[in-house]
Amino acid sequence: MLDRQQLLSLIDEMAASHKASAGQISALLSCEDEEVINYLFSQALAVKEAVFGRDIYIRAIIEFSNVCRCACRYCGINRENQNIIRYQMPAGEILGLAYAAIDAGYQTIVLQSGEDLSYTREMLGAVIRKIKAYAPAVAVTLSVGERPYGDYAHWRVCGADRYLIKHETADVALYEKLHPGHSLEKRLDCQQHLQALGYEMGSGFMVGLPGQTMEMLAEDILLLQKMQVAMAGIGPFIPHPDTSLAGAAKGDIALTNRVLAITRLLLPTVHLPATTALTVQGGRAEALAAGADVIMQKATPAEKQRLYEIYPRPVKEEYSLKEKRQLLVTQLKSLGYMGI
Ligand code: SAM
Repeated sequence: MLDRQQLLSLIDEMAASHKASAGQISALLSCEDEEVINYLFSQALAVKEAVFGRDIYIRAIIEFSNVCRCACRYCGINRENQNIIRYQMPAGEILGLAYAAIDAGYQTIVLQSGEDLSYTREMLGAVIRKIKAYAPAVAVTLSVGERPYGDYAHWRVCGADRYLIKHETADVALYEKLHPGHSLEKRLDCQQHLQALGYEMGSGFMVGLPGQTMEMLAEDILLLQKMQVAMAGIGPFIPHPDTSLAGAAKGDIALTNRVLAITRLLLPTVHLPATTALTVQGGRAEALAAGADVIMQKATPAEKQRLYEIYPRPVKEEYSLKEKRQLLVTQLKSLGYMGI
């Protein structure tokens, strides 16, 4: 057990060297001492500000299909869930939403879906090409899961810049339990292929998965470092009532923020979203204060957002995309940040 003084010194060391052992990370994650935690957050924010200043990057996400071939046990759109209506946006609808988001000022468009193979290499490639032709400076991020290397290569040639594919948990046994028929090895292989193709690769994981320990979370953070990820989506696990994990406990928000802050200390230049899962639990300001630098806003129409229910969340759609972005910029300004 490290005492308060040792933990405070450890935070200084981590902020300076960007290194820590799994044992040191677990010790900090388990710490409930408010003085230590406040110091952790202040150092993480200082590291974030040294790299990105007060800037917060705002991205638009289009969830274009909730059809999925996977059976991930935590996810509300997994193929076993018979209680949702499935949708698949035609290419024209995806493009209409992307153009509207670009016109509203978003600089990054994230295209996300379940693992829906009916969107072929060529179909998605054409969508990417059209978005890049409409706005060459806008970054296109894909998040469509595990696909053949040739698909990733084609989409890169079409202009895709980034790819989000989280490792979800670095613990092999837990990974296999949660992802029937899938392996962590395959997931990491996809990540490496994407990096070799020149994508900025984003990974990430959930906090509070049933059976997860502090040691596993420490390994999650170290895996991000080992893979040299450009982005890391880290959010609390939220049980979905139509999954086999319906009765499990929610991931802890305070712990998630500690994970974010430690990740910021160890990976100073990584993009860290204040994830939607964290935001729906009311934690956006805290996540920003713990070193997050990205916010994703939904550009998916409300009726489809309700169907893209990976975990339960309220969907209110009172504003246009432009208004939504403007409101966020104003809110960020009031917190002392600059939304860009
Ligand atoms: N199919 C793509 C893939 O596999 O990368 C992208 C879509 S997947 C639905 C998006 C992310 O949602 C996953 O990476 C996972 O971390 C998150 N997610 C799914 N179910 C969740 C839950 N119950 N609580 C919190 N996050 C969840």
